[in-house]
Amino acid sequence: MSQANPLLQEFDLPPYSQIHPEHVEPAIDAILADNRAAISELLARDPQSLDWDGLVLSLDELNARLGRAWSPVSHLNAVCNSPELRAAYEACLPKLSQYWTELGQNRPLFEAYAALAASPAAAGFDVAQKTILEHTLRDFRLSGIDLPAEQQQRYGEIQMRLSELTSRFSNQLLDATQAWTKHITDERRLAGLPESARAQMQQAAQAKGLDGWLISLEFPSYYAVMTYADDRALREEVYTAYSTRASDQGPNAGQFDNGPLMAEILDLRQELAKLLGFAHYAELSLASKMAESTEQVLSFLRDLAVRSKPFAERDLAELKAFAAEQGLNDLQSWDVGYYSEKLRQSRYSLSQEELRAWFPIDKVLSGLFAIVQKLYGIEIRELHDFDRWHPDVRLFEIRENGEHVGRFFFDLYARANKRGGAWMDGARDRRRDASGRLVSPVANLVCNFTPASPGKPALLTHDEVTTLFHEFGHGLHHLLTRVEHAGASGINGVAWDAVELPSQFMENWCWEPDGLALISGHYESGEPLPREKLDRMLAAKNFQSGLMMVRQLEFSIFDFELHATRGDGRSVLEVLDAVRAQVAVLQPPAWNRFANGFAHIFAGGYAAGYYSYKWAEVLSADAFSRFEEEGVLNPATGRAFREAILARGGSQEPMALFVEFRGREPSIDALLRHSGLTEQAA
Ligand SMILES: [Zn+2]
Repeated sequence: MSQANPLLQEFDLPPYSQIHPEHVEPAIDAILADNRAAISELLARDPQSLDWDGLVLSLDELNARLGRAWSPVSHLNAVCNSPELRAAYEACLPKLSQYWTELGQNRPLFEAYAALAASPAAAGFDVAQKTILEHTLRDFRLSGIDLPAEQQQRYGEIQMRLSELTSRFSNQLLDATQAWTKHITDERRLAGLPESARAQMQQAAQAKGLDGWLISLEFPSYYAVMTYADDRALREEVYTAYSTRASDQGPNAGQFDNGPLMAEILDLRQELAKLLGFAHYAELSLASKMAESTEQVLSFLRDLAVRSKPFAERDLAELKAFAAEQGLNDLQSWDVGYYSEKLRQSRYSLSQEELRAWFPIDKVLSGLFAIVQKLYGIEIRELHDFDRWHPDVRLFEIRENGEHVGRFFFDLYARANKRGGAWMDGARDRRRDASGRLVSPVANLVCNFTPASPGKPALLTHDEVTTLFHEFGHGLHHLLTRVEHAGASGINGVAWDAVELPSQFMENWCWEPDGLALISGHYESGEPLPREKLDRMLAAKNFQSGLMMVRQLEFSIFDFELHATRGDGRSVLEVLDAVRAQVAVLQPPAWNRFANGFAHIFAGGYAAGYYSYKWAEVLSADAFSRFEEEGVLNPATGRAFREAILARGGSQEPMALFVEFRGREPSIDALLRHSGLTEQAA
């Protein structure tokens, strides 16, 4: 078996087309057994006298081998899900959870790290090495190294159960998204929908052997109906299906209900926090973040809410007045996107849809690459000879001064059996390995954009362009690192609430005339975005920014309070209602089950950390304001950002890196100004 198992072979890039579900469990079993044996052997000698290479680098090697096998498996599980792969993936989760708990609670290993950190040699370590040791010792404590055996065992049980529950949350959300479709045979029901959306829906119908059109809950389809469908009943029906996914409500009520999982996840997180001596999970979450206390986070969010609520109220009043002019006097949740788009069109004569023609995918990519090439002095070229998991996948190489730096995969379009949303995943870390060879980084960049339709390239909305820039910013953080130790390379070891700095930072170029000139070109004529369209687009930048801000704050405060008040007897819905009463200006229907699809906090890494977006946006907006001062395509400023932030990964605390780049601590002014939430803008 092991001879034929591609996951156990040496490879440069994963042989995706050869990886089958039956390879997964045997490979993980074999690697975990090998790693356990290697760690025992390591610690059987004199563990207290291990040097950096003997200890840290040895562990890095073991982790890298595990990552090399597991990374393609978890990636495929997210982008090419199948029942067989899902079963194989899930069979490994408890084994991995147990392995990580064992490592985190391995006393001799902890003592070896503590001895290394206290050794005379440690004084000569570089800053990345020092930070890695400090964080590793912290993480042993957060894994329960100091707990009595009984509680350590409970810690392990909780972790194992959490990994199972969060994976099931994700599966049920994917299944619920796939389970609902609406077959349309009378095209009149699609009145208002742009040609591109109809073509997608027609393709979706054909793929299932149907005539007419098929509406699905994949994001491009859902978004098109909510934004353009004149048929109010259709909007309501699709909204209802989407916002009750994986819940006890809606057309598939109870079939994929995440509700019980959510309650158990929250209870277990609370128990875990208590076990480790924290008041609640929010406090545990902050133990490894940039924010100093739960009060600091909440007062930051509440202050922003107080500042932005008047703007949101004004936005909503305008929207209601506009809808009333069109004869609609009871604006509902399924009307908001539709009338917002109409209002945007009437005020700026600009629609998201018409802008698509200027953002064909290849023009956007070449513009994006031109921007980062100029700023960071790198070159990017496409590679064609590689093993892909789907025909849409593309691979690119970054070079600098003729030298290889790293590679990234793009998997950009929505399709069946692919998890929704957009993300960057560091598939391989940059690091100097035990033989002294420099391993180059690899990143997977995944989005769910509207695919190409027959005879046309994929044309992106400006929102999609912004998402691409965002994920690419994460990618650059992973790929342009200069750190050679795995524990602090790229995004490794970066405090979670600073992780969104490089990503949100990149979004700024989508709003700069100099950036737009590079990323836009009509897909037929090649002409750049005309000046008057550009002006209208920039004028519309902060359209409804008050509403958008309070929505993000609602999510952030909800997540944080959910994890800070568990055990006070309130249900998830009650916490959400209380937060909405405080922050939101628009109350969704009582049957809305938004939280049941909130994968960021129930299945991703954002638990008691969703605030990170706003927190890091203070940093990213302020970092960008230096570019506003010095030129948005100023190579010197770009190099300074690259060396202070992108190159340094988790080697130092984020505040120190920010101050190095900006020359001072961050201020919230740039965020408020960019979001149009200042008095002048009101
Ligand atoms: Zn992000």
